[in-house]
Amino acid sequence: MPRPDLRQRIAATRKQRAAQDRVRVRRTATRRDGVRFEVDGHWLTGFCGNDYLGLSQHFAVVNALQDTAAREGAGGVASHLVCGHHVAHMALEREVADWLGVPDALLFGSGFMANLAVLQALLGDDDICVQDRLNHASLVDAARLAGCKLRRYPHGDAEGALRQLRASPDGAALLATDGVFSMDGDVAPLKQLALVARAQRATMYVDDAHGVGVLGPEGRGSVADAGLGVDAVPLQLVTLGKALGSYGALVAGDADLVRHLAETARPYIYTTALPPAQAAASLAAVKLARRDQWRRERLAASIARFREGAAKRGFELLPSDTPIQPLLCHDDARALALAQALEDQGHWVAAIRPPTVPEGQARLRIAFSALHTEVEVDALLDALEWAREAVGNGFATARATGA
Ligand SMILES: *Cc1c(COP(=O)(O)O)cnc(C)c1O
Repeated sequence: MPRPDLRQRIAATRKQRAAQDRVRVRRTATRRDGVRFEVDGHWLTGFCGNDYLGLSQHFAVVNALQDTAAREGAGGVASHLVCGHHVAHMALEREVADWLGVPDALLFGSGFMANLAVLQALLGDDDICVQDRLNHASLVDAARLAGCKLRRYPHGDAEGALRQLRASPDGAALLATDGVFSMDGDVAPLKQLALVARAQRATMYVDDAHGVGVLGPEGRGSVADAGLGVDAVPLQLVTLGKALGSYGALVAGDADLVRHLAETARPYIYTTALPPAQAAASLAAVKLARRDQWRRERLAASIARFREGAAKRGFELLPSDTPIQPLLCHDDARALALAQALEDQGHWVAAIRPPTVPEGQARLRIAFSALHTEVEVDALLDALEWAREAVGNGFATARATGA
C-alpha cells in the first residue's frame, strides 16, 4: 500500500461533509453592540453568544483593560514561571478563590488549556478518568493527552459513573463532568456524583464553564448551587470567556492540587502568561458578577419568558433552566434552514450539528443574556413560529451556516 496522501484525504472528507450539510463556515461580525451584531451589512439580534451577564462591553471592564494596557502593554512577556507572572494575575486568582470560597486558584490562557493541564498533571497511564458522555471536547482530549484510561457513562447517570469506577478499581481515578452542559443546558447531578466519587475514592473535577456567574448564590456556580465544598469537589474550572465576558480560565480548589498544577502542568508551564490587561478586565468582571444580582434576575426572567412562550406555541424544549435553551431539529439540513429563516427575520441563532452534538441531534442552540429585552425575546418567539411555517419539511432556504 502506498502512503496515503494527506491532501487527497482532506479533499475527500470535505466533500463528504458538504454532502451531509456539515460544512462549517465562519461569519464575520463587523461590529457588536451588546447582543446586536453587524454581519454582512445587517444588524442581527444575537442569541448565540455566551456573554450571559452582558459584561463584555461594560465600561468598568473595558476601562480596566485600557488602563492596564496603557501601563503594562499588550502582551504577557513570558510564561508565569519565568517572568510573566504579574500582580494583576495574582489579584484575579485571589478574587476568584475568595468568590468561590476555596483556598486557591490558578489562571490559565483558556478553558481548553486548563482542562488539558488538569488531566495531564494529575493522571498517568495506569489511571482512569470517568466522564459524562456529553462532556466538553477539551475534557475528552485531555484524557488522551494524560494517557489514562477514559471511560464514559450515559449522560447525567451517576449510577453509570459508579459502575465505571467499580469496573476499574486499580489506579487513581478522576470523575470529571461539565457542571452545565454546553449544548443541552442541563445541570449535572453533582450531589450524587460527589457521593459516587467519595465511595470510590475518586477525585471529582467539575468544568463549570457555563455555570459560574449564572447559577448559585452570588453566581458562584453549579458546585456552590449543589451545596458542595472543596472537600467534595477539590477542583473546578471557572472560565472567563462566557458569563464573565472576558478571556482565560482558572482552576480553583484545594491548595496542594493547585500548586501541583502550577509546578507540573505542561499546558501551564510552556505557554505565555495572559496579558495583565486581560486579567485586570477579568477582575473587574468578577467583581460585577458578584455584586450585580439583578443581572441574574433579568436573565432568569428572559429564560422563563422564552420557555413559557415556546411551550404556548408548541415548541418542545429540552429540560433546562439555564441560559442555554436548545431546540432539537434532528435533521442537520432542517437546523440550518431554521437558522437561515431566523436570520432572514433579523435573529442570529446557531445551528449546532454533529460532531458537536450526537448523530441525529442537530439543534438550534438559543442562548440568553441579561441584556436581552422582553421585546427581543418576544420577537424571537414570533420569528421561530414564522420559521417553522416557512421551513416546513422543504428546507427550501437551506444554506451552510452555523457552528
Ligand atoms: C467553552 C468551554 C470550555 C473551553 O473554555 P475556553 O476558555 O473557551 O477555552 C471548556 N469547557 C466547557 C464546558 C466549555 O463550554
